[in-house]
Amino acid sequence: MIRWVGFDADDTLWQSQSYFDAAQEAYEQILSRYLDVADDRVHAHLLETERRNVRFFGYGAKGMILSMLEAAVALTEERISGADVRHILELGMDVLQHPVELLPGAREAVEQVARHYEIVLITKGDLHHQERKVAESGLNTLFHHIEIVSEKDPPTYARLFAEFGCAAEEFAMVGNSLRSDIEPVIELGGWGVHVPHDRLWAMEAEHGVDPDHPRLRVVEDRAQVLEALRGFAN
Ligand SMILES: [Mg+2]
Repeated sequence: MIRWVGFDADDTLWQSQSYFDAAQEAYEQILSRYLDVADDRVHAHLLETERRNVRFFGYGAKGMILSMLEAAVALTEERISGADVRHILELGMDVLQHPVELLPGAREAVEQVARHYEIVLITKGDLHHQERKVAESGLNTLFHHIEIVSEKDPPTYARLFAEFGCAAEEFAMVGNSLRSDIEPVIELGGWGVHVPHDRLWAMEAEHGVDPDHPRLRVVEDRAQVLEALRGFAN
């Protein structure tokens, strides 16, 4: 019997990846002055740099910008100008300061679920950025707990379950990322409601979730989240 429901935030309750994608497009525009950005290796090099650095910088805009700078210096063989380094830094500031744009039906879905379950927001990324978005979203008062974590893996979820005093079987996670929101929770014995978003960061696309897993539901509309959760009881 599910008692606790966790909600992911970025691209589950509000827009996020679109800002990162826009920054990446602008970054490639800057690099186009130095090299052929149509070359797939430019794209792959940044992703590889981010993947290597995530354990040092964590997830989020600050880590992305540091990786962009590192990749730009390497790809241009140190020819990138000071002005363009500043432009790349400004791309990061734009991501960190974008207004919070709730996704359709996000507030209603959280309100509906909150009437039946203990609800918790579980989000990863830059601490300051996430704190600001949580406060600006206006959803913060609806949640019983808010957890900003550095990684969403089985040990993190297991620690949270211990904090909440719930067993894995009593917990369901709602989110757009199969890798971060669904796979670790199902692995521990919990439940997952996948709400896909049309934009997904390449690293989040890597997962091993069985699409027919009996403890997984996929909903296209946030209005169906409560129904999906209740369906697990049958
Ligand atoms: Mg997300």
